[in-house]
Amino acid sequence: MAEKYVIIGAGAAGSAAARTLARLRPHDEVHLFSNEVLPTYYRPGLPDMLAGRLSIPHLKIADREHYARVGVFLHPEQVLELDPERQVAKIRGGREESYDRLLLATGARPFVNPNWGGRRLQGIFVLRKLEHLPPLEAALAPDSNVVVVGGGIRALQIAEALTAYDVRILLLVRESWIGYPLFTKPQGQWLRAHAEALGVEVRTLDEVNEFLGYEGRVIGIRTKAGGMLECNTVIVCMHMMGDMRIAQRQLEHADGFLVDEAYRTSVSNIYAAGDAAVARADAQAPRWRGWERAAQHGVRAAYAMAGLPSPPPLPPLVIAGRIFGVSYLHLGEPPLDVLLSHVEIEKSELGIAYALRSDGTIRAASVLGFAHCHRAMAEAFTRGRVVEPPLATLLDANFDWRTGHAV
Ligand SMILES: Cc1cc2nc3c(=O)[nH]c(=O)nc-3n(C[C@H](O)[C@H](O)[C@H](O)COP(=O)(O)OP(=O)(O)OC[C@H]3O[C@@H](n4cnc5c(N)ncnc54)[C@H](O)[C@@H]3O)c2cc1C
Repeated sequence: MAEKYVIIGAGAAGSAAARTLARLRPHDEVHLFSNEVLPTYYRPGLPDMLAGRLSIPHLKIADREHYARVGVFLHPEQVLELDPERQVAKIRGGREESYDRLLLATGARPFVNPNWGGRRLQGIFVLRKLEHLPPLEAALAPDSNVVVVGGGIRALQIAEALTAYDVRILLLVRESWIGYPLFTKPQGQWLRAHAEALGVEVRTLDEVNEFLGYEGRVIGIRTKAGGMLECNTVIVCMHMMGDMRIAQRQLEHADGFLVDEAYRTSVSNIYAAGDAAVARADAQAPRWRGWERAAQHGVRAAYAMAGLPSPPPLPPLVIAGRIFGVSYLHLGEPPLDVLLSHVEIEKSELGIAYALRSDGTIRAASVLGFAHCHRAMAEAFTRGRVVEPPLATLLDANFDWRTGHAV
């Protein structure tokens, strides 16, 4: 009898899992739930969109037609909670969806500390989804005072994007340097100089104590060091934890659902992958939450759900980007092996594909695994001689990176 797989969340992990399951189990049913208007897009491109460098067609990865073509039933609906006893997911509006096996790929949730008292104040934003962009853009009137809270790579990307606006930008960072833990202290200090050259003010070793408001709007931040920062817009970009709202009561968790090496949660037919999941074996260890890793785990979770013993091995972790005019490349878990400015990163306009170049030659590349990104990368390749295959190929192990076609 056909099995029924239900996947909640169509981001990097959920989309990868759904497509892989549809390929591995063409006679089973794969149902994918998304509560976003555009189910699958390249989330790390949101700061580029804020800066006006990319738009939705660049970020779009898969829509309803795409999923129909590959044999996935897409449901643009929000799942409210799970009933593991009855093996059903309860959907907003009252309907229920039954499942044999279910994957939680709900991603992460931005954290705004409720003790800061900003709950009822206008002017405080997070940036995690497409829908967060329009209200934020509308708030960035000329001469606004914007504080970005957080010093990790996402906060830096957002601060850099804001340099495209006529606003004052202050980065409020708890640590003693920016970019922690991806960058070491000397690298962080070097980045800071680049940020300041672009007009971004940086305040380290300080953090929010309390938001200050007047007539329902944020007007400032009182910091732990005792200072008062005047601002009318705050973007909070701090620690994210797995979005566990639909099953937090039923499943064991830390800052994500705890999973074993086969992506199984504490309920044996419920799996979790991507930012929503934490490996039980190293729940306390620092980890990199990123797009490619989430997609790779999604593929491997699909193999486990399909009962196949040999999922594709995890390729080496590649983290690459460009921030404040500085390129960086990571091969391996941070903070090891970061090379700054030794590579040129190509972000193709046709899609999101990184080609890492030096001396005009593409030495290695990282592809995101969706068809149009493959094409984008193939195009990038034609402009340089490729000396190594992609370091991280995701969804289609069968993709031929020389031709840009699936084999
Ligand atoms: C601003 C920003 C910049 C980033 N930059 C980088 C970067 O440079 N490099 C990098 O590697 N990573 C970056 N990331 C992180 C990367 O985007 C995530 O690690 C990755 O998207 C995680 O994939 P995921 O599938 O686990 O979750 P997500 O991509 O977040 O997808 C989860 C999906 O599930 C949906 N969902 C949740 N609950 C429900 C529900 N109950 N019902 C239906 N749908 C639901 C969510 O709306 C979402 O669409 C960035 C993230 C942000 C926000």
